[in-house]
Amino acid sequence: MSERPDDLCPRPPQLPPQPCPPHAPPLLLSSVYECASPDQAEALLSGQSPGYVYARDGHPNADMLAEKCRALHGAERAVVVGSGMAATAAALLSQLQAGDHLVASNQLYGRSLTLLVQETARLGIASTVVDTCDLAATRAACTAKTRLIVAETITNPLLRVSDVAGLAHVASQVGARLLIDNTFAGPVLCRPLELGAELVMESVTKTINGHSDVVLGVLCGPAALWSRVPTVVSTWGLASAPFDCWLALRGLGTLAVRIERACQSALAVARSLVGHPAVSAVHYPGLPDHPQHSLARAQFGEQFGTIVTLTLRGGTPEATAFIQRSGIAFCPSLGELSTTLSHPESTSHRALSPSARAALGIEGGTLRLSIGIESTDWILSAVQRGLEGRP
Ligand SMILES: *Cc1c(COP(=O)(O)O)cnc(C)c1O
Repeated sequence: MSERPDDLCPRPPQLPPQPCPPHAPPLLLSSVYECASPDQAEALLSGQSPGYVYARDGHPNADMLAEKCRALHGAERAVVVGSGMAATAAALLSQLQAGDHLVASNQLYGRSLTLLVQETARLGIASTVVDTCDLAATRAACTAKTRLIVAETITNPLLRVSDVAGLAHVASQVGARLLIDNTFAGPVLCRPLELGAELVMESVTKTINGHSDVVLGVLCGPAALWSRVPTVVSTWGLASAPFDCWLALRGLGTLAVRIERACQSALAVARSLVGHPAVSAVHYPGLPDHPQHSLARAQFGEQFGTIVTLTLRGGTPEATAFIQRSGIAFCPSLGELSTTLSHPESTSHRALSPSARAALGIEGGTLRLSIGIESTDWILSAVQRGLEGRP
């Protein structure tokens, strides 16, 4: 007698036998795994044997992506979490406790500063914000309780370059760890752990995924600092979703060629802007007059990143006109396949007062271009259209 539909249908199917492994990674959406026995469940949940029980603790698609990121950064450990912010939170919550002090760069991503300064204050962690491009000022900001220094490899939107080895030296002098947000550089340009940082995080949302369809983050570091990381990720609920990890792993497949192409075009765009009468400033680490050009060359080699920032004479009205004339999509993110632009005054830095923005060099006419993988000619002519108002 055949089984009743209401008994048959809800039960999971058997995986068919498959002697040949799939060449492309499988997508394992399961939130939970079947345990053979209480002994096995105990061994898995205590971490004694490798494997999966519950996807908030870990799942294969996150681990396949984490393994690639771990190898790219030459790290001992890596964990993929639900966003770049979750990666920074995982670093903070695993390394610090009440009574500790941290030093944060004054040019960090806005939400990172909110997390590291305001949210930490509620947890009893003190902080000092400083220009971490100034090593002496960074050293002076450290106290006997400083446990973490946080800086970005390349800052937003003025693209200042951090001296990672110099900051690592300051951190070691005061007994702190250095956490680098490597989102703007990415592992193709820079591997901060090789330069002495203990921890590196990236927003996988940006260039690593590259296709504007995922929000994810990754944290990499040494085994010696990892004991609390799995517990923090699981108990604070920082986990990632399998499909997002599957998509990001696919995006990562083309990372190196996308970066190579976009860096070439970014340098060409930056050079085309220098000396243009409508442009009052061009920021790009690959230009010889960039304040940290030789440091950038030493840290990154011959690729200087995919972001170019310019300031137009004529303020916000001229920035608005540029956006309309150029036809480049105005998206307040970066690292997309296509060239996009952002207007820091109205997006990433809108919470700052005009004088605080001016201190960072951000004006109404400041635009941040994220260079995509279109041909260099196409991108150059879009930028020229934006500048000249001619098609
Ligand atoms: C986007 C971004 C983040 C935050 O990453 P999410 O994936 O959006 O949480 C952190 N740092 C930098 C430099 C970023 O650009």
